[in-house]
Amino acid sequence: MDHFLYKNGVLHAEDVAIPEIAATVGTPFYLYSAATLTRHFRLFDEALEGTDHLVCFAIKSNSNLAVLKLLGDLGAGMDVVSGGEYRRAKAAGVPGERIVFSGVGKTPEEIRLALTGGIRQFNVESEPELRVISAIATELGVSAPIALRVNPDVDAKTHEKIATGKSENKFGIPIAKARMVYAEAAALPGIAVVGVDVHIGSQLTDLAPFEAAFQKVRDLTLALREDGHAIRRLDLGGGLGIPYTRSNLAPPLPVEYGALIKEVLGDLGCEIEIEPGRLISGNAGIMVSSVIYLKEGEGRNFLILDAAMNDLVRPSMYGAHHDIIPVLEPAPGTAPALFDIVGPVCETGDTFAKAREMVPVGPGDLVAFRSAGAYGAVMSSEYNSRPLIPEVLVQGDHFAVIRPRPSFEEMLGRDSIPEWL
Ligand SMILES: *Cc1c(COP(=O)(O)O)cnc(C)c1O
Repeated sequence: MDHFLYKNGVLHAEDVAIPEIAATVGTPFYLYSAATLTRHFRLFDEALEGTDHLVCFAIKSNSNLAVLKLLGDLGAGMDVVSGGEYRRAKAAGVPGERIVFSGVGKTPEEIRLALTGGIRQFNVESEPELRVISAIATELGVSAPIALRVNPDVDAKTHEKIATGKSENKFGIPIAKARMVYAEAAALPGIAVVGVDVHIGSQLTDLAPFEAAFQKVRDLTLALREDGHAIRRLDLGGGLGIPYTRSNLAPPLPVEYGALIKEVLGDLGCEIEIEPGRLISGNAGIMVSSVIYLKEGEGRNFLILDAAMNDLVRPSMYGAHHDIIPVLEPAPGTAPALFDIVGPVCETGDTFAKAREMVPVGPGDLVAFRSAGAYGAVMSSEYNSRPLIPEVLVQGDHFAVIRPRPSFEEMLGRDSIPEWL
């Protein structure tokens, strides 16, 4: 459920009419609903009620400081994968003890940043990384809390670019090697082993791969305890999928996911961490765009928008589907037509949808891309020298620009021409 609904024939975000925002900020723009973000965070928090837990929002899905502040104030922890994301979490007021550092290639500078600024735990992905953390922690005279990210060799049955839990993926330590690497970790100075971490992929629409992975985490935890490690925390990653269409089979609900966690791992006495990104931010955001031209081709009609692949790359990168709806509600009975919905960028890949059924719209009309709050703005670029589009947050009957559109002067001003040219 989200808070983007038609009221009196006009699409609203909570209580604000979208044309009103478009008139103020111009198109295209991203628009997030505070009520939806709050609701989705609470669904996870409540799903784990009764167990000691922390819901860590995966910043990589949506890293705007206002979004992080909103979630942080609700009690969320943060899952970061770079020094930049760590700085964002801190700037949004989230304390180090609620920040988990994931990622396959943490640099010495990033490790130092987290150890000096405060960190809940590093999710360590290799033995070389473990040794670098040990060396830096020893030099700083601190102890680094760590979990090893194990690769359970489970097929997440999701898009190949976002599956991470098979042995052929670059992520984590093979689970068969884990006991050996934990023994090394326990022997290293400056390292405090606190838990086990797993993350098998994104946009999972079935609980079975989670169950298989959690079962392996359970077996490993029992084995590690036998080996003498005080495993007290289990980080189960993110990955729960969202419905990108109204018609598709609905993915499992957070409450079902929470019940599975409790069923498989609940008796271990561990604190549970989860790292959802997409399910919290995905359906809490839309991208609003204007139609520039309707171009009638041979056997095809192209709807050319002012948004493009640089603003929302998921369709061209993953073949992802986004529902695209008119901001003005069509009159009942309006016959839809077929459109190829495209952006202005000079690449055929700049296509949002092919032969999409849609009620007729024309130049100047507003359309909204649903489910664009995760992996939307964060993956955008200035390809074709198109300035990054603004982000707007709605709460109730008011809205604020939470990242303005840069001016062309700012955009050009980032380059410099050497004096010898
Ligand atoms: C991407 C990622 C997440 C978030 O995944 P979602 O599918 O957005 O929930 C969580 N943890 C790690 C380690 C990740 O890489």
